[in-house]
Amino acid sequence: MTAAPAAEAGFRPGLTTWPGPGWVLPLLTAALALAIFLFDTFSPMKIAVAVLYAIVILMSVGFLDRRGVLLTAFGCGGLTVIGFLVGLRHTGFEAHLLRGVVSLSAIGIATALAHRSQTAMAVLRDNERRWSGIIIERALAERALAEARAELAHVSRVVTLGELTASIAHEVKQPLAAIVTDAQACLRWLDRPVPALDEARACAGRIAGQAVRADHVVQRLRDLTRKAPPEPAAVDLGAAIGEVVELTRREIADHRVTLHTRLAPGLPPVSADRIQLQQVLINLVVNAVQAMEAAPRRELAIETGVGPAGEVLILVADSGIGLGPEEMARLFTPFHTTKPGGMGLGLSICRSIVEAHGGRIWASRNADAGLTFHVALPAAGRTA
Ligand code: ADP
Repeated sequence: MTAAPAAEAGFRPGLTTWPGPGWVLPLLTAALALAIFLFDTFSPMKIAVAVLYAIVILMSVGFLDRRGVLLTAFGCGGLTVIGFLVGLRHTGFEAHLLRGVVSLSAIGIATALAHRSQTAMAVLRDNERRWSGIIIERALAERALAEARAELAHVSRVVTLGELTASIAHEVKQPLAAIVTDAQACLRWLDRPVPALDEARACAGRIAGQAVRADHVVQRLRDLTRKAPPEPAAVDLGAAIGEVVELTRREIADHRVTLHTRLAPGLPPVSADRIQLQQVLINLVVNAVQAMEAAPRRELAIETGVGPAGEVLILVADSGIGLGPEEMARLFTPFHTTKPGGMGLGLSICRSIVEAHGGRIWASRNADAGLTFHVALPAAGRTA
């Protein structure tokens, strides 16, 4: 950060600027100075009119810098002296001298006050600039941090999807294999001496259905690997969980895990970025499956419900190896991992995603075996 120079030079509209047009105050000040001079010099009245130059000096603070105000003060002093010399012919020397001294003192005091106020104003302006610099720097740093977080979340998502390659490939291969089988059957129906058109039509219908299914999987994959800013929308949790199950189904089956999905009926939608929410769920499911690799019983439950404050709850429970109290405390710490090839970022990214949605994520140890991860999100249109 570069500090703004404190020195004032030339005309500077300060913290106490004249509210009217720029030329009015200088004109008024000059007119007042002239009026004081004429009155002081040519009026036979025996009063120290020149003390009013103090007002001229204080008025000049509104449109002149420190040097300008000092020059004005000297000017006023000079005019006072001229007025003194010319005015000698009207009054006695002593009384006249006294009035002159009083006037010059007033000018001196006003100059000192003006100088003080201008110094204070300069310091305030300097601080103002410095603080606005700090605020801008902070905003830029926060934006860079948010961008870095989004980048990291994207990388972690792609890495997690990499762990699911077999499962995803299976989800695409299955409808493709069904398409091939149906296409062959369709050809056989058509190749008959009397083509069986109804059967062939049924085969074509199934082919179209399977193609749509494969397309959905590819589309979902493209969504998850896409790098795009979060787009909050009302998300139907049942559908979002269904898609996650679809992508992880093979992984779950390959690890001989039994999946229980218990979705509460009539669940309100949550306001969330669907991709980020699914990233959280995929991460929890993959972690749960991996935690059950060496477990005798392998049961994974995904449940939804509504919490006491109306928040939407998602539970991902496994019957895996679980964790001791010490490891539980470090569960969401970045780079904490117990896996040989683990990055230890999945759960901390899950937490930042959930918290960015105004929700909470935490884990608890099951009474029998394994862990349960709880995600609480505000229902759409509500804040947690
Ligand atoms: P990574 O999977 O790369 O290790 P995570 O942040 O997703 O990163 O997980 C951090 C650690 O938390 C894991 O290494 C594991 O020790 C622990 N963990 C996460 N989920 C579970 C679970 N369901 N059961 C037991 N331990 C878990």
